Amino acid sequence: MGPAVRLFEVCLRDGLQNEAVVVPTEEKLALARALVGAGFKDIEVTSFVRPRWVPQLADAAEVVRGLPEAPDVRFWALVPNAVGLDRAMETGLRHICTFMSSSETHNLKNVNRTMKESLAETRKVIAAAKSDAMSVRSYISTVFGCPYEGAVDPARVEALALSLLEAGADEIALGDTTGMGHPAQVVTMVRRLAAAGVPKERIALHFHDTRGTALVNVWAAWQEGITTFDGSVSGVGGCPYAPGAAGNACTQDLVHLFERLDERQEPSPGFGPVTGVDLERVGEIGVRLEEALGRPLPGRFHQFWKGRQQRRAQRSA
Ligand code: MG
Repeated sequence: MGPAVRLFEVCLRDGLQNEAVVVPTEEKLALARALVGAGFKDIEVTSFVRPRWVPQLADAAEVVRGLPEAPDVRFWALVPNAVGLDRAMETGLRHICTFMSSSETHNLKNVNRTMKESLAETRKVIAAAKSDAMSVRSYISTVFGCPYEGAVDPARVEALALSLLEAGADEIALGDTTGMGHPAQVVTMVRRLAAAGVPKERIALHFHDTRGTALVNVWAAWQEGITTFDGSVSGVGGCPYAPGAAGNACTQDLVHLFERLDERQEPSPGFGPVTGVDLERVGEIGVRLEEALGRPLPGRFHQFWKGRQQRRAQRSA
C-alpha cells in the first residue's frame, strides 16, 4: 500500500519559473536527485513552453535527459500546446501536464488565447499524449478566484474538468492561482465534482499561500477525501504579488501537517508512512534551494527549521 497522501512536488517548475535567478541545469538535476532521495514519487521538473517566454526553464530537454534512473518516480513536465508535446516526447518523457484557466481574462493574459481556443488545443494535446500511452495531468487555474474577474463560476470549472477527463486526462489539478480560495469554496467544489462523477482520486489540489490559507484549504480538501496535493519546497514560486510574498503551498508545511496525523503510531525512522517523504531531507533541500536562488524563501516550516538548525549548530559549537 502506498502513502495515504500523495504529494506532487512542483518547485523545479512552478517554483523556478517565477524566479529572477536562472538556476544552472546541473543544480536543477542535483535538486531532482535530492527530491527522489527524500521520497517524492511525483516531481514536476520543467516546462516545454517557448524558451523565450520562460528563460528560467529554457533547458527543459537537458533537464529531462539528465534525470536520475528512478523507475518508481513519475517525472512530469508542463506542455502548453502540440509543439511543446512534441518537444517533450523527443526527450522520452512519459508524464505531461496541460494547463488552462477557468477565467477568460486570465487565460487571455496568460496564453493569449480564448478559453474556447485553449480547450480545443488542450484536448488535442491530451488525445495525442494518450495515444502514446503517456500519463496526463490537466491543470485548471484560477478555480477559486481570478485576480482580474473576481469570482469564478463553479459550473464553468465543472464543465472544463469533465471535458478534459472526457478527452483522456488522468487527473485534474485545481489551481488556486493567486491564493484566493476559502475552505468553504474548496468543500463546495470537491463535492460538486464528485457529484458530477469525477472520482476523488483523480482530483488534485494546487494551493497558494498568498493570503495564508494554503494549509487550511488542504485540510478542508483532505476531510472531503482528496489525497493528492501539490507543494513547492520552502514555498518557492507561484506568482507572488510583492517581493517577500508567499507563493505556492510549502511542501514542508504539508509533510509536517500530515505526519502529525500519524503521531499515535511508532515513529518510523526516516520515511514517514503518511506521505512517504522524509521531512528532514526536504528541510535540507529547502536550504539548498534558498542558496541557489540567493533570497530568503517564505515557507513557514522552512523558516522554523532553519532557525532550529542554527540553534543546534550554536549549541554544538
Ligand atoms: Mg503554483
